Amino acid sequence: MFKNIPFNRVEWVTSGFLIFTALLTVSAVPYYFWTFGWDWFLFGVFLFFYLATGMSITVGYHRLFSHKAFQAKWPVKLFVLLFGAAAFENSAVWWSSEHRKHHKHVDTDDDPYDITKGFFWAHMGWLMFKLKPEPPFDNVHDLLNDKLVAWQHKWVHAISFIVSFIVPSLIGYYYAVFSGNLSPAVGALGGFLIPGVARVVLVQHATFCINSLCHMIGERPYSTEHSPVTAGLQQSSRWEKATTTTTTSLHGTTETV
Ligand SMILES: [Zn+2]
Repeated sequence: MFKNIPFNRVEWVTSGFLIFTALLTVSAVPYYFWTFGWDWFLFGVFLFFYLATGMSITVGYHRLFSHKAFQAKWPVKLFVLLFGAAAFENSAVWWSSEHRKHHKHVDTDDDPYDITKGFFWAHMGWLMFKLKPEPPFDNVHDLLNDKLVAWQHKWVHAISFIVSFIVPSLIGYYYAVFSGNLSPAVGALGGFLIPGVARVVLVQHATFCINSLCHMIGERPYSTEHSPVTAGLQQSSRWEKATTTTTTSLHGTTETV
């Protein structure tokens, strides 16, 4: 599985983020529930953020921007750009550039998440190790000409932190202030940990599964030569279907376009 992965080329910031947020999710989040108890409001905010960020990646970054599968008015684009950034999968320009390369060169060395390098590489290894120079973005001129998309590309890291962590923390804070159910600090911490950190980790691994699991398990009714699969989720694993939602089969279908 690891034979093609150069461990001397680690992307420290990305790797640190992926590992640290995952560790917080399995340690601080259960500790929070254990200490302060379950809260339905925070769970509701978590669900909203999970769906908003997940759909912004799968429908927005993937279908709207990478594939231009439909057109959208600016409020929809703004929503997708704000919540797409909150998934911490970089800008729509960067994501689409990598994804268009993936389709053009699927299952070859020029495919950024080439499944022939193994599950780990296609899932998250390609983000954790830097093999090639930053892309020149020569396949996304159409997106760079869109002022809203170019604005998100320029400020994506700030937008990611604000929408993903600061906004949920503020929601938790004001919820505690107005409801009196929790102290304001505990409300803010709950907002940061549950709709913030835990949601980022779950959305990331659900979308990463599209590149890993959905290129490995299932049937290939459209092509026997390429890895993307489409019907596998109905047959092989209920868990995959639950985590990756319906976008996985859509992606398999898209691969042949
Ligand atoms: Zn695609």
